[in-house]
Amino acid sequence: MKKQKALLIIKPDGVQRGLCGTILKRFEKVGLTIIGFKFMKADAQTVKNHYPENDVWFGKVGQRTLTNYAKKGLDVKKVFGTDDAVAIGKTVKNWLITYFQESPVLVAAVEGYETIEIVRKISGNTIPVLAAPGSVRGDFSHDTIDLANEQNRPLRNLIHASDAVEDGEKEVALWFKPEELFSYKRADEDLMFPPSK
Ligand code: GDP
Repeated sequence: MKKQKALLIIKPDGVQRGLCGTILKRFEKVGLTIIGFKFMKADAQTVKNHYPENDVWFGKVGQRTLTNYAKKGLDVKKVFGTDDAVAIGKTVKNWLITYFQESPVLVAAVEGYETIEIVRKISGNTIPVLAAPGSVRGDFSHDTIDLANEQNRPLRNLIHASDAVEDGEKEVALWFKPEELFSYKRADEDLMFPPSK
């Protein structure tokens, strides 16, 4: 079975709240190997390249707001001036570009088996108020979509974690130079996954 890579970013709210160590520890404890790690100021272009620039992604993000507003009977046009999911997604992306530059971010690349599944599970639902207890977003935030939208900002959900195998590879390559990535074996790896005889 092939290992997968994922990118983790402790976003500015996580950094400013002093939660870097607390959050990172959860990914180490589950057995993933940290293969890259740095503290940096994100520039607008990197954030722009990081989040997809296509209608599928814009639509997915916008739909999250539409679904939430429909559930609560709120008028989406009051905040966004439109009920078009793609247009809403584009607005959120612009908010993300500003938000990522609020303070330094901690960027880590991790590797292991089923890494994407694991990093998403530990991170929790995108909307903190819906994220399960025990997840990073569920334990350290209870931000809501309507409040975030009203304040013209992205959900402050502490962490980015790659969401698909191809994204993990692409995102690690976007944020790290090859010489910033390391290959080594954790001391407990053979205990977690005994080598075949
Ligand atoms: P993720 O992979 O769980 O981070 O979710 P996405 O890739 O769909 O969205 C990227 C980021 O945009 C999220 O982590 C949130 O910070 C923010 N975001 C997503 N959807 C919304 C939304 O409907 N409203 C607001 N204000 N922010 C959102």
